[in-house]
Amino acid sequence: MTLRAPHDQPAPAAGRYSRRSVLTGAFAVATAAALPVAAAARAYAAAGPDIIACATWGARAASEPVVVLANRPERIVVHHTATANVTDYSRQRAVALARAIQTYHMDAHGWIDTGQHFTVSRGAFVLEGRHNSLAELRNGTRQVRAAHCVGQNTVSIGIENEGTYTSQAPPAAQYAALADLCAHVCDQYGLPASEIYGHRDFNATSCPGDRLYALLPSLRKDVATRLGTTLSDPEQDAEQGQERDPVWDLVRQATGRPAATIGEYLPAGLLP
Ligand SMILES: [Zn+2]
Repeated sequence: MTLRAPHDQPAPAAGRYSRRSVLTGAFAVATAAALPVAAAARAYAAAGPDIIACATWGARAASEPVVVLANRPERIVVHHTATANVTDYSRQRAVALARAIQTYHMDAHGWIDTGQHFTVSRGAFVLEGRHNSLAELRNGTRQVRAAHCVGQNTVSIGIENEGTYTSQAPPAAQYAALADLCAHVCDQYGLPASEIYGHRDFNATSCPGDRLYALLPSLRKDVATRLGTTLSDPEQDAEQGQERDPVWDLVRQATGRPAATIGEYLPAGLLP
């Protein structure tokens, strides 16, 4: 696909994004009360970001029942949508994006529903992708079988980030919303922050773009901070029931890089 708006601008500090001040407030209260900052961070991660559910954004029904797996996911896979880096940061745009992705995945690919579990818009709105993803996330013990990354669809949570991040970085607010969502997924499913990967770690694809992929080490650290943990403290991980070591190199070696790529990219014209 051709690209795109040449100028990135940070998303405006919209009212809905007052979660940042919630975080600041939580830390401030913890400090004032001499409570562990980590506890405040974990409370923040446990609350999670606002997520716009399928029913709210007007998703079509899945073409057949979505499969709910009995297992927890083992990791998170980060994607970009390879769509334009728009400067429309509105909720309306986020909803249009969710609908366009679902239409493309169902009508062009013949999938039963949206491929990924969640979507983060450039305006930092978080939306449910495949039906039941949100309910299962809230439950914290099962996951929905998805279609976002060959070989990972039964063991990972897929998050699409609106935009093309080959040469541009995501807006700060979108990145923060992604970190909030990842922290909540980790908190709900008991995953360490080290278990965040890019699509290219598993399939032959440039996704999620060189710039977003290069941000993944920072993302893992920022998610760890939100969880009140650190990446290099296995004792603390164990204390929280997160006993897995960072394994991304091992995972990559084990799964290889199949030639097949997932068709996640939207053709021009599906979006306003
Ligand atoms: Zn991808």
